[in-house]
Amino acid sequence: MREEFLGSLVCPECKHNLIVENAQWAQGEIESGDLSCTGCSQHYPIQQFIPRFVASDSYADAFTVEWTVFRTAQLDSQTGLNLSDNTFQQFFNFPAKQLAGKLVLDAGCGKGRFAEIALNYGAHVVCIDLSYAIDAAHKNLKDRVNIDFVQADIFKLPFRSETFDGIYSHGVLHHTPDPDGAFKALVPLLKQSGFFSLMVYASYNKAYIQTTTFYRKLTTRLPKRLLLYLCYLAVPLYYVNKIPVLGPFITRILLPVSVNFPTHRWRICNTFDLYSPKHVFFYTHHDVFQWYKQTGFTDITPVNPGSGISYIGAKAS
Ligand SMILES: [Zn+2]
Repeated sequence: MREEFLGSLVCPECKHNLIVENAQWAQGEIESGDLSCTGCSQHYPIQQFIPRFVASDSYADAFTVEWTVFRTAQLDSQTGLNLSDNTFQQFFNFPAKQLAGKLVLDAGCGKGRFAEIALNYGAHVVCIDLSYAIDAAHKNLKDRVNIDFVQADIFKLPFRSETFDGIYSHGVLHHTPDPDGAFKALVPLLKQSGFFSLMVYASYNKAYIQTTTFYRKLTTRLPKRLLLYLCYLAVPLYYVNKIPVLGPFITRILLPVSVNFPTHRWRICNTFDLYSPKHVFFYTHHDVFQWYKQTGFTDITPVNPGSGISYIGAKAS
């Protein structure tokens, strides 16, 4: 943790300032120590360079496994592709270079796939994640400047109101127990006129949702490593997908596996992502538009990142 980052953090319980005690330094940063609240009796550990505001990864344990195993699978810097960059740019209704100099919250950063892109466009990124994926993100991006990492609960974040110039959360809130509540919990952290870029799953493909919901009743109860092994076995169905008519019926309805990604490893990762998370919710355009409208956003604009429901809006001044 950078020492300067301390000034951006507050106690998530009482919103008072924090001080560092028992700091151990390494590589010019705080490797371990305690954050003590000046307003209440709470203490929060700094471990492996990251302040931890949760005691465990809770309902997000599947993402700890996913992004520890597939830490580099989707990072443009590792794959040599520009898929994450292209996807990221489509989430905004302005050129991504306008992120330069902005303080941006990556709400649910995973292994840091989009944080890497936001950094490339000159943003200062604060990455938060409930799961230990935050350690994967740190490992991937610790050598970059203008980035900070926090393990925390999206419903109880350690930041003051109106801190961020922008928030993005792509493919995250539908995995919380209360996505609408998560959106509303994030909005106060945004400055007036700041942007909120969101992607959640779409509810329009009923057959796909019914089938995956059926399988998920079993798969979410399996040990994560066993499920991962089954995904390795299932993903070769990708080749079945190439059979006209019958192939897509099998891979998208009968036994859905990920077929839309460029590498074998990425398809295994995405299939695990489909069957492992504890919570999954699906939404219509109307649902998401209402989230923005009810919290006072203006310029509410649908954008097109492929699958999913994606919007961006500006917080009313
Ligand atoms: Zn406190």
